[in-house]
Amino acid sequence: MATETKTTMTEQQHDSMFDAVLARLDVAAKIYGLSEDVANVLRSPQKQVQVSIPVMMDNGKVQIFEGFRTIHSTVLGPSKGGIRYAMDVCEDEVKALSAWMTFKCAVANLPYGGAKGGIKCDPRKMSVGELERLTKAYTIAMADVFGPDRDIPAPDMGTSGREMAWLVDAYNKVHRGDYPAVTTGKPVGMGGSLGRDAATGRGVMVATLAALKKMSLSPNDVSAAVQGFGNVGAHAARLLSDHGIIVCAIGDHTATYWNEKGIEIHAALRYVKENNGVLKGFTGGVEIKNEELLTADVDILVPAALQNVITGDIAANVKAKLIIEGANGPTTPEADAILKEKNIIVVPDILANGGGVTVSYFEWVQNRYGYYWSEEEVNMKHDASMNTAFEHVWNNAQLYNTTMRIAAYITALKKVELGIKAKGIY
Ligand code: GLU
Repeated sequence: MATETKTTMTEQQHDSMFDAVLARLDVAAKIYGLSEDVANVLRSPQKQVQVSIPVMMDNGKVQIFEGFRTIHSTVLGPSKGGIRYAMDVCEDEVKALSAWMTFKCAVANLPYGGAKGGIKCDPRKMSVGELERLTKAYTIAMADVFGPDRDIPAPDMGTSGREMAWLVDAYNKVHRGDYPAVTTGKPVGMGGSLGRDAATGRGVMVATLAALKKMSLSPNDVSAAVQGFGNVGAHAARLLSDHGIIVCAIGDHTATYWNEKGIEIHAALRYVKENNGVLKGFTGGVEIKNEELLTADVDILVPAALQNVITGDIAANVKAKLIIEGANGPTTPEADAILKEKNIIVVPDILANGGGVTVSYFEWVQNRYGYYWSEEEVNMKHDASMNTAFEHVWNNAQLYNTTMRIAAYITALKKVELGIKAKGIY
């Protein structure tokens, strides 16, 4: 009982997602020797905007939604980061996600700072018309925050190219012009980049292959479990399986499936396409509990759904030897310590899921160029960039004798520190 209470209390210390960011920042800052002044700059987001958005619902009643945008840093360039539609969106979550974007962009070596936005809503319960009105009203409310040289949104959980197209439309109308580079993740054909849709999952695949190589393991000899079958998880599962990795478990918010011989990912993708985007009812495996996926007997675990799923308790039971974080913040700081103790290699979110924002950057470059690249070119540049980022983090992990997570923070801190010092604090 005493132990149980203790675990709960420890976990509670990090109920705040932003505290979980600071916990890692503090460790990395200490190991790296970051100046207190620079650490303090990064501890406080540059700007936080909160808006109330009245939306005329289909039933004729007005509903007020809470919208957020946090600009964590613009030291290395205009701020970049997605917009999330979910019921748990709040100031703390958006703040944490914005800080991770600063570090993610720095690790990926992009000329961007970090930001994040969100609206507290349940998009699954809203009509297309309601979502369009909400997105456009949010964009109008944030019209002075966003900008191609200022702050550039993108899709995140609960949003996609459709919302980005609405966002561009509203932004263009306010600013009386054509500004495709105000957001990324747009549909192909209206300023979107080929390869952007699959980019985060592709980055997960590249990071997995790079890690396997360091571990002297062949993709053909290992198995994986992928949590989440949305934009990140589905592409990741497909690409891992295309590269010879046996994907034994997949799951989304409706159901989780296990097949020891490997799930036919292309069949699962077809099933989801024909079944309103959800896995429930898929017959290519036996149904298991979502939690069982995280502790399944596989070599690689890919959490690519929600934050805080690998808690201390789960970490104690993880059997995988490699974790690739497709989601943002899937592992709690308490779990970090346990995984380290168990010698499980964790390729952290700010490295592993950086493929999405990397291709966002390519999209933004193409928009500004007015010249569009082939998918092969995008993928080639993406893979090279991911591999370079992986090497930097891996080398820092050796150099500072620390985990990949802390090494990723150190990699980012070095760049952001340089920017802060070069620009000067007055
Ligand atoms: N929402 C994605 C992320 O968390 C993409 C951000 C972007 O492309 O700006 O990395």
